[in-house]
Amino acid sequence: MITRESPKYGLRRGAWQSAVVMALSTALLLFGSGCRRQEPERATAVPRDLNVLLITLDTTRADHLSCYAVAPGFSPASEGAPPSPRSRLALKGSARRGGATYAQTPHLDALAARGVRFEHATAQVPLTLPSHACIFTGTYPEVHGLRDMGGFVLDSRHVTLASMARQAGFRTAAFVGSKALNRHFGLQQGFDVYDDQMTSRDLEGQLPGIYPERRAGVTTDHALDWLKVHAKERFFLWVHYYDPHEPYDPPEPYKTHYAKDPYSGEIAYTDEQVGRLLDSLDENHLRDRTLVVVIGDHGESLGSHGEMTHGIFIYDDTLHVPLILAGPGVPADKIIASQVRSIDLLPTIAEFLGLPPKPDAQGVSLWSLIRRGQAVIGKRANYAYIETLYPKTYMNWSELRGVRTDRWKFILAPQPELYDLEHDPQEKENVIKHHRTEAEQLQNLIWEVIGPPGQNRNLTYSPVSRESQRELASLGYVSGGTSHEVVLNMSGPDPKEMVPVLRAMQEAEVFMKAKAYSQAARVMETALHSDPSNPTARIHLASAYERQHDWRHAIQTYQAAIERGRSTDLILARLGKAYLRVGELAKAIDALGKASLLNPTDLDTLRNLGTAYLQLGRVEDSEKAFRAIAVQDDHYAAAYNGLGLVAIQRGDANTAQQQFERAIETGPDEPEPLLNLGLLYQKTGNKQEAIRYYERFLKKARRDQYAEQIADVREALHELRGGR
Ligand SMILES: [Zn+2]
Repeated sequence: MITRESPKYGLRRGAWQSAVVMALSTALLLFGSGCRRQEPERATAVPRDLNVLLITLDTTRADHLSCYAVAPGFSPASEGAPPSPRSRLALKGSARRGGATYAQTPHLDALAARGVRFEHATAQVPLTLPSHACIFTGTYPEVHGLRDMGGFVLDSRHVTLASMARQAGFRTAAFVGSKALNRHFGLQQGFDVYDDQMTSRDLEGQLPGIYPERRAGVTTDHALDWLKVHAKERFFLWVHYYDPHEPYDPPEPYKTHYAKDPYSGEIAYTDEQVGRLLDSLDENHLRDRTLVVVIGDHGESLGSHGEMTHGIFIYDDTLHVPLILAGPGVPADKIIASQVRSIDLLPTIAEFLGLPPKPDAQGVSLWSLIRRGQAVIGKRANYAYIETLYPKTYMNWSELRGVRTDRWKFILAPQPELYDLEHDPQEKENVIKHHRTEAEQLQNLIWEVIGPPGQNRNLTYSPVSRESQRELASLGYVSGGTSHEVVLNMSGPDPKEMVPVLRAMQEAEVFMKAKAYSQAARVMETALHSDPSNPTARIHLASAYERQHDWRHAIQTYQAAIERGRSTDLILARLGKAYLRVGELAKAIDALGKASLLNPTDLDTLRNLGTAYLQLGRVEDSEKAFRAIAVQDDHYAAAYNGLGLVAIQRGDANTAQQQFERAIETGPDEPEPLLNLGLLYQKTGNKQEAIRYYERFLKKARRDQYAEQIADVREALHELRGGR
């Protein structure tokens, strides 16, 4: 047992200091895991013994699946034998059609061959979270309110597909591949299990839009484990694969086979994992009782229209997604050409499961189209409303809205655009001058969805759920006056006019990846001359300075944004971190504190704030910051590590030990709590335990991050083992 002396830690001040500093030196995040909250009672009486497996493919262009890329009517899987599990077909590398490449996707092709493939499914938003919210609520963003990445939480008054299924007695489970769909955004509503647990990598210096992710193989493993237990129950299972999202880094053998086209490699790898899920349904004899729905959340521009990834524009490159349905009642080998929308999935799946229709759904059930080839007449089903606020919120450019029909695409921008998709599917030629009437009619459809023009559509950021609000307020976070408003009046530059700035950011990213930081900085300095009020461009520039450890220039860059009235929570958070790097604690606390008030869901910032307070000896403030993390995520190891350090400052060894143990339990790969507990045991005279935790620390600590501490611990171990 542990021998505990009364609190007289003879710790070298430097030792605790270094433990504190270490908390700053890494930005490892550990978020929560599934099934924490107890679920409300479930109703009984489900009409039919059926299940749903919904698979969402992140960032997947329809034309990059082989069943979409090859000529209509040809499906590799329907020719000859169906592909064997883990078919070697997938390993041939990307194929070409015209000038474009695509992935070999034998499992998705086979699924399409035994079901329905929609040629023209349109996502409503080219962004992960808003697009998934359209799928799960059957409504457009104006209704569900998840307008952007970050800043919004799905209100609990919204009924989701998962909550409808659970209400009807289904087991519900979600396995997501990225923190972009973190439970805190609200999509966990209705799920018995919401597995968003993933070890984060060090995200310091990362550019906006990069979220921690996990490989499809891991997500599949978790989903299959769940299915093993629940295969005999009626279930609604959602699996989300994030792999095709940048950075494109498929595992072997796809890495080699798709060396020239790693994006397609990620899709081919994801297809393999879809195959594992489908095999498992077969092994459990569930194929005839399970509706399988596969849809993309958005596409990827891959350089088209000057955009490499997604979010800025609303061309088909980023909104045309794959959609495949197969299972009981779905005719085999059918291709449907009419446009359908991601908001149509909820009514479709609800009808399949015999659930009552959702009154506020804006999508329509696709069953009449699937069974009889008849599109729904009326109900605004003949067009898709599309939008992106990303150019406004991230770039300070104009937001974009639009409408897409089978024939036309209208984009409402400072310079509006009209494309005749029948003759110009690539959307290259703006024909608005020749088709004024069509453009006007299409524009009116936008007002039909979002309400008449001229009405105030400004948005207030509210990143905290109603449930967390009270707890956070009691800790001093969230105050009414700090909310951040976005003015949506199409002011700011037209995104298509800003392609040179977009290209500069993309070029800077390439330089950054090549570690050519000063070149990246030069590119961004030039870009900022033409677009000085772009907050993301500033972050790109500051990141280039940060990578060179030029904290002073990074600080100046962030301050320039603030002086221009462009202080986002992200800019303040990064400014605070830069101040920490140069040891200006008071300024760091000022910036981090402001960032935390704007967005208390940024746990990394709260962690930095807590650590900075600790270094200044402001123990109570520090405790509040760490507690604000813990109330939002009880699996965030660094919060308990921080609370342990707070206890040390108060001379409370018992609490410190408990908190460090909890940190180790929730984050067994985090080195800091191991070191801190080792130190605590050493200073309280428990040599054996000290040795044990120090050894564990050495196993987890990376040399580049913990060089100094590793040397100290080695020396301490030598002493503890009686070396001298
Ligand atoms: Zn996405």
